[in-house]
Order: sequence, then structure tokens, then C-alpha cells
Amino acid sequence: MPDVLVFVEYSEGKPVKAALQALGAGSRLATELGGSAIALVIGGDGGELGKSGAGRVLVASGDAVKAYSPDGYARILANQAAATGAAVVLASATPMGKDFVARAAARAKCGLAADCTELKVEGGKPAAIRPVYAGKALLAVQAPGQLWATLRPNAFAEATTADAAKIEPVTVGFDAGSLMAVVREIVEGVRGKLDVAEAEVVVSGGRGLKDPAGEGKQNWQNLEKLAEAIGAAVGASRAVVDAGWRPHGDQVGQTGKTVSPKLYIACGISGAIQHLAGMSGSKVIVAINKDENAPIFKVADYGIIGTVEEVVPALTEAFSKSLRG
Ligand SMILES: Cc1cc2nc3c(=O)[nH]c(=O)nc-3n(C[C@H](O)[C@H](O)[C@H](O)COP(=O)(O)OP(=O)(O)OC[C@H]3O[C@@H](n4cnc5c(N)ncnc54)[C@H](O)[C@@H]3O)c2cc1C
Repeated sequence: MPDVLVFVEYSEGKPVKAALQALGAGSRLATELGGSAIALVIGGDGGELGKSGAGRVLVASGDAVKAYSPDGYARILANQAAATGAAVVLASATPMGKDFVARAAARAKCGLAADCTELKVEGGKPAAIRPVYAGKALLAVQAPGQLWATLRPNAFAEATTADAAKIEPVTVGFDAGSLMAVVREIVEGVRGKLDVAEAEVVVSGGRGLKDPAGEGKQNWQNLEKLAEAIGAAVGASRAVVDAGWRPHGDQVGQTGKTVSPKLYIACGISGAIQHLAGMSGSKVIVAINKDENAPIFKVADYGIIGTVEEVVPALTEAFSKSLRG
């Protein structure tokens, strides 16, 4: 069947935004293939997915899935991939998706195209497009059998459908005692803080902002104020994280998080290839740098040559004024 099975991740009883985007992408691909999207929910109730693009919502519940377990989730996803006979299996490339979907694909004896930014149909077969070599090239992946892919958060739009999906329970097929490991607790760094990988707007700081424990104190406060004024998450370059100025969870780039927000504002960041690897998929890029030859300007849609001391507070004021009305 040319159906598309989409794992929909839940957090605190609700589907996460990246999973709704994956479901939207799956629904559009299924329509192109002539099938429909099937959502798989593990540990949630699926009620919120009524009109989010799925024709059916499969729900696995019970004691064995009360806590997240990579082993258990992989078994369920692989079982449902076989049971539905879907042509494509999708999940979002969130930390959870990255943790267990490759194991599920291995169980299904399939490969996995990770962190894809586009889905299409080529020669009548589904294809997943993924950036490689730090975003310098795009790879189109097709599979001889079932195509498995994880999708980059914010690279796809959610969907709305007219008809409510049918919710169907599925059997888990194992008990909690058979799991090799379960996650007992998730400790959040700072509660309520907007994550760079999920945010629609990201304001990132680099070494140009200087040490927040010394002469850069005001610069980092200004960056936080700008982020607050426009509802953005604060990101950072690796130089900043290595120096201990920001936590690793804020790092954008090859060895940090990959972000594709609607707007990315890079402040005092040179634009090294490893940083670009994590943010060049942003819809609009603004760069503020005092060096007109900084490589970040090559990928920027708007470049401001100036110091962060001068430009960041001026931007905050301008945004605040126009947002006030
Ligand atoms: C294997 C590997 C993986 C890596 N992974 C990552 C990664 O995930 N993410 C990442 O970011 N990097 C990564 N790096 C590091 C990367 O190569 C760069 O060293 C790093 O991105 C530089 O950070 P930066 O731009 O903040 O600092 P710098 O390169 O020092 O740039 C600072 C910039 O600030 C500007 N500036 C200075 N003062 C001001 C001012 N007052 N106002 C305005 N502008 C000013 C300067 O002109 C300069 O362009 C990786 C490197 C390796 C080898």
C-alpha cells in the first residue's frame, strides 16, 4: 500500500510541534503516492490528532509504554511498519527520534535517511532529500523496499484535514519487564526555556559578544532582551559554548543542534562552516558583524556591518516599537 506511517511523538500528553510537521509532510506525500497517512502514537491517546493529516491514528498504550524506552518504542514502530505495509515510515529528527528510529529501521532490516529537509516522488517512488557535507550538497534517497526517514524540525508545514481520523488501539506485544532500558526521569536544564531546535525565531551569539563574566556582560543581557522582544530562543556558536559562556544545549552547528527557524539572527558570529551546517536551512538569515569580510555574510539575506554593542540594542528598540503598534 502506498501509505505513509508517521510516528507522532508526545510530550506531557500533547503531540510535539515537530511531530505535527512530520505528520503534515507524511500526509502530503501519501496524497501524491495515492495512499493515506497513518499516525502512530505511543503512550498518548491520539485524540489531539483528529484533523492533523492522518486518515488513521494507531495508539499503543499500557504499562509497557508508560515511560519512554528506546528498545520498546523501536519494537512497536518496526511491528507497525510491517503490519501496515506502509511504503514510507517517518518520524521527526528530535532527540527522541534520533535516539530510537534508527534501531527500529534496523529491526525492519531497512536503511534510514536521517534529518531530511524535503520529501518528493521521483519516478513514481518516494524520495527523501537530506543535506550532506555540512549542507554543501543534497542527497536524494530512495529505497528498494520501505523508505524510512527522519525529518528536520521546522523544515515542513503542518496539515489540516477536513475529516477526523479514526483512532484504533494496537497491541504492544511485550511487557515492561522485557525492556532492556527505560527512561525514568527527564531533567530539564531551565524549565520553560524555548529550545533553539523548536523555535521559529533564533537569536545567536558568538565570540564577538565577549565574556559575559567580564566586558561582555552587557552584550549578553542585550541579546536576551532582543530575544525576549521578538519571542526568540537564544542560540550560540561553539566558541561560546567551549568557553563556558552558554550551555551546550544552546549550541547551533555540526556538533550542536540543527535549526531551521523562520528567522535566524547571528550576532558576532564569524560563520565557520561547522556553524553554517546547523543554521543555513533557516528561512531568513540576518548577520551582525563588525568585519565586512566575515563569511557569515555569504549566507545572510540581510547583513549589518557594525558592532553588537551598537546594533543589538537599536534592533530591540526598533522591533519593540513596531510590535507595540
Ligand atoms: C569538528 C568541529 C566541529 C565544530 N562544530 C561547531 C558547531 O557545532 N557550531 C559552531 O558554531 N562551531 C563549531 N565548530 C567551531 C567553528 O569552526 C568555529 O571555531 C566557531 O564557530 C567560531 O565561533 P564564533 O563565530 O563565535 O567565533 P569567531 O570565529 O572568533 O568569530 C567572532 C566574530 O565576531 C566578530 N566580532 C568581534 N567583535 C565584534 C563586535 N563587537 N561586534 C560585532 N561583531 C564582532 C568578529 O568579526 C568575528 O567574525 C566546530 C569545529 C570543529 C573542528
